[in-house]
Amino acid sequence: QKITVRKTRAVYNPDMYEQWKEAMQSEMNLGKGLDMNEFRLYYQPQVESITHVMTGAEALIRWQHPEKGLLSPASFIEIAETTGLISQIGEWALHEACKQLKSWEEQGLGHLTISVNISPRHFLYHRFEDFLQDCLKLHGVNPANLILEITENVALEDAKLVEAQIQRIRQLGFTLSIDDFGTGYSAFIYLQQFSIQEIKIDRQFIKNIETDVKSRAIVRAILTLAKSLHMHTVAEGVETEGQLKRLEELGCFEIQGYYFSRPIPIEELNKLLLASPEF
Ligand code: C2E
Ligand code: CA
Ligand code: CA
Ligand code: CA
Repeated sequence: QKITVRKTRAVYNPDMYEQWKEAMQSEMNLGKGLDMNEFRLYYQPQVESITHVMTGAEALIRWQHPEKGLLSPASFIEIAETTGLISQIGEWALHEACKQLKSWEEQGLGHLTISVNISPRHFLYHRFEDFLQDCLKLHGVNPANLILEITENVALEDAKLVEAQIQRIRQLGFTLSIDDFGTGYSAFIYLQQFSIQEIKIDRQFIKNIETDVKSRAIVRAILTLAKSLHMHTVAEGVETEGQLKRLEELGCFEIQGYYFSRPIPIEELNKLLLASPEF
């Protein structure tokens, strides 16, 4: 067999070294942050349209950094993804979400769901299913209340592999949701090939839904499609009453966005829930 060796030019570039050093440092810090229990989940409520009753929440990670303060995922998820720490972070988030589901269950709030973001690499990891199984056993929660959000980029991998993983996870009883629907590499292959129960319509299409006919047409089309495929729908990034009204007219099932609440710490969410299940 012929082996081709790609010639690479080893050019010394001080910037590259700095970048590499920074990446190594970030990885070390991220690992330390995990060990020191510095990550937090914030929860953003999801409400049923029209009634505005809370149905669940999306868990969004934050890093309570000892020096830098509260860091948003934009500043560390990418590093975690390239270094592989994302799987550990994901496992941590799933444990936290299960503990919260259990606590709600015990308070008679067993109908509430939690959505957790799973990065493609973690989702396709061959032991992910084992982890989920162990997690269920450990916490004793209803898997249907745990919604795993994956993005379209998962479909960049071998479709057979993705489908097999989806089937295994569905068999365990988890709910699957496509995040940022319509913005990724291939939206329709999901609907055609994979058994997924929920679509989250990306904020990009919601943003101008009041003024832009194109945005509205796209949202309407997604909702029609979802309905005929018996899929659940959630609109993300809803900030105004006008957007909300449009989505309700178009028949979107659930709403998430600053209009109802920003992502908040669990204590705050529980206080809101205690006061009223309605927003
Ligand atoms: P995402 O999954 O699309 O989450 C929605 C993002 O939109 C969140 O940003 C949320 O705070 C923000 N958002 C919610 N409502 C509104 C609104 O009405 N207006 C606007 N302008 N923004 C809104 P956040 O929390 O900064 O998270 C950013 C991204 O980081 C997430 O996007 C997700 O891809 C990723 N992420 C967050 N937590 C995790 C995690 O635990 N694991 C993984 N793998 N990724 C995560
Ligand atoms: Ca829901
Ligand atoms: Ca998400
Ligand atoms: Ca999203």
